[in-house]
Amino acid sequence: MRLHNFAAGSAILPGEVFTESAQAVQNFNDMGLSILEISHRSPKFEKVIHEAESLLRELLSVPQGYSILFMGGGASLQFTLIPLSLLPIGGAAAFGESGIWAKKAIEQALHYGHVDVVATGKDTKFTAVPTDHAVPANASYLHITTNNIIFVAHNLKFFLITNVPIVADMSSDILSYEIDVAKYGLIYAGAQKNIRPAGVTVVIVKDDLLGKTNRVIPAMLDYKEHIKAGSLYNTPPVFDIYVLMLTLAWLQKLGGVKEVEKLNKKKAEILYEQIDSNPLFYGPVSPESRSEMNVVFRMNDESLEPAFLSFAKERGIIGINGHRSVGGFQASIYNAMPIESVAVLTQAMKDFTDEIG
Ligand SMILES: *Cc1c(COP(=O)(O)O)cnc(C)c1O
Repeated sequence: MRLHNFAAGSAILPGEVFTESAQAVQNFNDMGLSILEISHRSPKFEKVIHEAESLLRELLSVPQGYSILFMGGGASLQFTLIPLSLLPIGGAAAFGESGIWAKKAIEQALHYGHVDVVATGKDTKFTAVPTDHAVPANASYLHITTNNIIFVAHNLKFFLITNVPIVADMSSDILSYEIDVAKYGLIYAGAQKNIRPAGVTVVIVKDDLLGKTNRVIPAMLDYKEHIKAGSLYNTPPVFDIYVLMLTLAWLQKLGGVKEVEKLNKKKAEILYEQIDSNPLFYGPVSPESRSEMNVVFRMNDESLEPAFLSFAKERGIIGINGHRSVGGFQASIYNAMPIESVAVLTQAMKDFTDEIG
């Protein structure tokens, strides 16, 4: 039996992507070779990486003047690469501090220049997105985290009003709702939540922001080198890029971001409705800051939480335990999560309540 995996990341893939990538491990494109052994310079793989790029360009309507990169090192490496490439020596960057990932990005930026935290959710333990900020005019960019898997939430519109380029960590919600890429200077996302297996990171960067920091940037850490090489500066994560391409093709077949956004809204609605109406559970995140990707919930009587966890497990539901730093529950319902699995979870909550009741 296939389990219902609500883990935050690495996360589930669409079923057909599992099937197709398993096939490619055995015999890629009827070549008599595995995807794991082909050269990253072979025409067959070049086709894959071009297809991945053009699908991404199409799905997000990425405008001219932006490059798309597939890099290694995870989203966390971007915490360093971004200040290296966008923060001039002696310069300043503005940050929205909306959770643990934002904090980590801030820590790395501090090695390279001045950091202005222009808004923080610290006072609410990051259960609400801050709603007030002023970005200093001398900031080279404003860094935001559009969705925080551990606590909350996206409430982007407010942050998008600024005169400096916006850099967005979209690791846990990219491609889950429509965005206007032209509003951003740089978007990055580790793949293991909404795009594909861990090991590849997508970067979408406005070309004219690069090359202005007067820093010596090691080649492997330099966006311009990777752009010049078409993401083939060195051996890229070939298999990850292949699976990413399959996932994007799946998304396109589904009807693109617009359609998946509707599905995501419906899934989140069903789950939040159960949390809000079930007497045993509650949602700690303020309603306007709730995430449609990572649904956080707790029990009024915390001592019942382990019992619910095993009750759910008996129904094949796994990965709902909250992050080790906060406890409680968290159900990640990324693009690939079928609505049927969400229904299994809400039914389990109902049944548990009836049984205890
Ligand atoms: C998961 C996550 C990260 C960390 O990604 P890695 O690829 O493991 O470095 C960073 N930012 C956000 C918003 C995330 O959800």
